Amino acid sequence: MKSIATAPITALLPLRCGVQHYAWGEHSEAGRAPLIASLTGVAAQPDQPFAELWIGAHPNLPASVVTPNGAVSLPEFIQHHPRAVLGARGGDTLPFLLKVLTAGTALSIQAHPNKRLAAQLHARSPQHYPDANHKPEIAIALSEFDALCQFRPTAAIRRDLDRWAPLHTFFAGLPAAPAKTWLKAAYARLFQAPAEAMRQLVEAQAAAVGQAGPRTPHDEWFLELARQYPGDRGAISLYFLNLVHLQPGEALFLAADEPHAYLRGAIIECMASSDNVVRAGLTPKFIDVETLLTMLTYRQGGAPRLRPRHRADGSLTFIPPVPEFAVDWWRPRQSERVTARSHDTVSLLLILSGRAELRTPQGAPVLAERGSTWLWPAAIPSLTFTALDADTQVVRARPNTPGQTNNVGATLLKKGADQSPS
Ligand SMILES: [Zn+2]
Repeated sequence: MKSIATAPITALLPLRCGVQHYAWGEHSEAGRAPLIASLTGVAAQPDQPFAELWIGAHPNLPASVVTPNGAVSLPEFIQHHPRAVLGARGGDTLPFLLKVLTAGTALSIQAHPNKRLAAQLHARSPQHYPDANHKPEIAIALSEFDALCQFRPTAAIRRDLDRWAPLHTFFAGLPAAPAKTWLKAAYARLFQAPAEAMRQLVEAQAAAVGQAGPRTPHDEWFLELARQYPGDRGAISLYFLNLVHLQPGEALFLAADEPHAYLRGAIIECMASSDNVVRAGLTPKFIDVETLLTMLTYRQGGAPRLRPRHRADGSLTFIPPVPEFAVDWWRPRQSERVTARSHDTVSLLLILSGRAELRTPQGAPVLAERGSTWLWPAAIPSLTFTALDADTQVVRARPNTPGQTNNVGATLLKKGADQSPS
């Protein structure tokens, strides 16, 4: 490690990143490889799902840094060069995790704990909660993308439940007012009922929706989820949440303690470096019902969309109301040259499509191929990249700077509060 510790850092460092093959991931279809397989050059086995590419230093699947002396895990590399990699105000760990996520079937309905709860859960059950950090996240669509997130207004939920006899009967007799009290009681009833009763309810509801029309988008997705996860109460839970459809380039911000599920499609996902998930259905895994029901904010209203800033150089910048991360996405014209600055903070880069030539002030230019990932240490003040192809796209994850957090964060949170009808 001595040579690694003393070598000055003047060039970007290539990364090797790991893939999670969770069951809900994307499969090869009609001879076309999953997106993550084609990005990483990993050959997809028949029936092998590709779910997430992890670009970061989280201990569950850290990237490796390729140095002239061999590969070193990113956390170890940072330990040897904390100031050069993370910058003067960067602390001692990478604050964010960048992913490419591709969902062939729905992920579990879930929420992520806030910082205080995450520390408690990790201390109590490290087997279920692998770290002590919170996990706010953004999802930026790369394809048409469907998701569930945050509770709908109570009136909209009740209208749907009352349309179907099995649901109407199951949720009857709850205190009707105030609206938020009804919501909490109904959601608790859904998760506290015995599994066998819920299996029967899902089957009865599937039979009812299958026979009758017209169907709403919630009904259509209920049938799809009941097919993907037979008998799972998560399919009923869908009626409580907003259904969102994103076009490529559109984004959502998922705050702590908000229920959500990704249903179908590909995204760039960025989050505080954590893997803490409290599940709420559409999963054969452990559901911590008591934690789930008490952690949720029960905030209601529309889906929490995050609108990007369009910059003069053609990039889109996604700035969530948290300090750990922001995402820049460049789609330059062929041969266009873009210069970005580090502002003494660390960045990770992904060449999403096409190729780029990367130049730093002191290093030799390097060719960055599609799917390659790079560590841009804080100590390298600027980076100039040239798009070599018509479809070159570069994604950069970096910490959010304090000025940006104050402005945009306040706007987004206020808007979220205004949307809440009760
Ligand atoms: Zn999540």
